[in-house]
Amino acid sequence: MENGKEVLTRDMDTCIRCGMKGQLGDHIIPSEDDWENRLNINNLETLCNDCHRLKTKREWIKKHKGVKRSMKITIVSGYPASGKHSYVSSRITEHDLVYDYDELMKCSTGQRLIDKQIDLNESNETTESNKSLINNIDVKEYIDLIYEMILRKLRTEKTFNNVWIIQSIPDIKLFDLLASYDADYILLDGR
Ligand SMILES: [Zn+2]
Repeated sequence: MENGKEVLTRDMDTCIRCGMKGQLGDHIIPSEDDWENRLNINNLETLCNDCHRLKTKREWIKKHKGVKRSMKITIVSGYPASGKHSYVSSRITEHDLVYDYDELMKCSTGQRLIDKQIDLNESNETTESNKSLINNIDVKEYIDLIYEMILRKLRTEKTFNNVWIIQSIPDIKLFDLLASYDADYILLDGR
């Protein structure tokens, strides 16, 4: 599958999966599945030997062992402390993806987003920390990027048994991007 220097140069000789020194150009969509794009540089990525071996192994298992997953998507929403995490952790299986939007926002801003928004509404005053939270709408934009990429990828793949999306208030993007899926919406009210 080695397809030359051009890809390695573009990717600066770096494996796009692990960041180590890249050794070969590999098809993103295998040529047997997409013959026309076998020479298209946009369908090639630089990998190191280890990542290439792992990827090949995974593809082989997928094809020959007939791993077919009927991926189920469940959107779990509800206010903080409504039991979203225990709901998910009591149902999780060994090959699931848990995407916790709120948790990701929290660790990317260093703040407890939802709690403070609620405080803000109740107290009607804007403290210093609340201000910085409001300004951090920029972080939300970045988190949304990751979120949309994941949702898009989920649309074309059935990699997991279950996908759990935890979000206090499910947003409109979810409904749009998952329109073709039969997704379950669970609303927990904490009682
Ligand atoms: Zn690698």
